[in-house]
Amino acid sequence: MKNSTNASATSKFYCDLFGHNYEITKKVTSHVKEYTCKCCKRQLTTNSNGKLTELTPKFQEINTILEKIYTRRMMRLKKKTLSSSIY
Ligand SMILES: [Zn+2]
Repeated sequence: MKNSTNASATSKFYCDLFGHNYEITKKVTSHVKEYTCKCCKRQLTTNSNGKLTELTPKFQEINTILEKIYTRRMMRLKKKTLSSSIY
């Protein structure tokens, strides 16, 4: 357990020095994405202002709802385009 604590402390130090190394871990909608730092595992998300913010449980909840709405809308859009091209 001591080793893992040391490792995360080191990567946090690295992030403080060189900045975080974020990668997209989840695409919620076309505008909202979730990012995780490869080094310290810090998580960010896009908020309603289009700015990056800490991925708190509250934002995780919002993103889950957003994703559901987005997927449903996309499915409806696809269906609409499909039927309009047939008829
Ligand atoms: Zn980091």
